[in-house]
Amino acid sequence: MSGERLTVRDLRVVFDGFTAVDGVNLDIHPGDLRFLIGPNGAGKTTLVDAVTGLVKATGSVRFGDQDLLGKPVQKIARLGIGRTFQTATVFEELTVLQNLDIAAGAGRGVWTMLRRRKGIPDKVSDALETTALTGLRDRPAGTLAHGQKQWLEIGMLLVQDVRLLLLDEPVAGMSHEEREATGELLRHVSQDRTVVVIEHDMDFMRSYARSVSVLHAGKVLSEGTVTEVQADARVQEVYLGGASGPRTEDPASAPAAAPVAVAEEA
Ligand code: ADP
Ligand code: MG
Repeated sequence: MSGERLTVRDLRVVFDGFTAVDGVNLDIHPGDLRFLIGPNGAGKTTLVDAVTGLVKATGSVRFGDQDLLGKPVQKIARLGIGRTFQTATVFEELTVLQNLDIAAGAGRGVWTMLRRRKGIPDKVSDALETTALTGLRDRPAGTLAHGQKQWLEIGMLLVQDVRLLLLDEPVAGMSHEEREATGELLRHVSQDRTVVVIEHDMDFMRSYARSVSVLHAGKVLSEGTVTEVQADARVQEVYLGGASGPRTEDPASAPAAAPVAVAEEA
């Protein structure tokens, strides 16, 4: 499999004197399904923002033989790097198919494309299939269930031939069934792409991560397999209490987040 590696070295993001990302190193190989976990405010989203060009950073970020830092957002996207946000960003009024068409033709004129479309390009029908949205292709995206919107967003990255996907809390607010389906989707998609998933839900992480990096206060606190990370005393400390314990935006995920290491010790 040809694929590029994501290499992050001494990445640093400073907001008005506050260091949100503090010297992060990461090596993520093609075919990996890397989970990035850590308490709220650890710097996870900011790290993804830095990789995708949304915030200024120092250090170095390479994808394959390309240097990303300092490149504008659009240029980074054209190198095959795509991300999702904590809230879905689909065109609610347009159908599933139209959303995928627009993503597939990014750069071409949107309206020209909508008018002139003849048949469905292979990569659009593949993305419909992969995301299990084929039967819903003519539905306005705004009427999709929460989980389906996230899958559509992932489909929009697939039609853009993205080879590095960075997903910010893709299962937040999802039902159990939606989580399972998303996990299977991520497994499938990561077979020939590099996938980084920011996640709060520890059960979801345990089920689907191939490797894990734990971020805390802008630094990589621990890294390895799920088992290795859960056995790390520093991770247990961060997750099990103290003033710097987890604060989560999503109250529903708090009970799942707390017993990260304990469950594995049994
Ligand atoms: P996480 O995604 O791990 O919850 P974030 O990356 O969103 O954490 O935030 C890391 C830290 O950086 C937090 O303390 C947050 O308040 C701060 N931060 C994030 N974005 C900005 C910004 N644009 N300006 C100032 N501070 C920010
Ligand atoms: Mg975040």
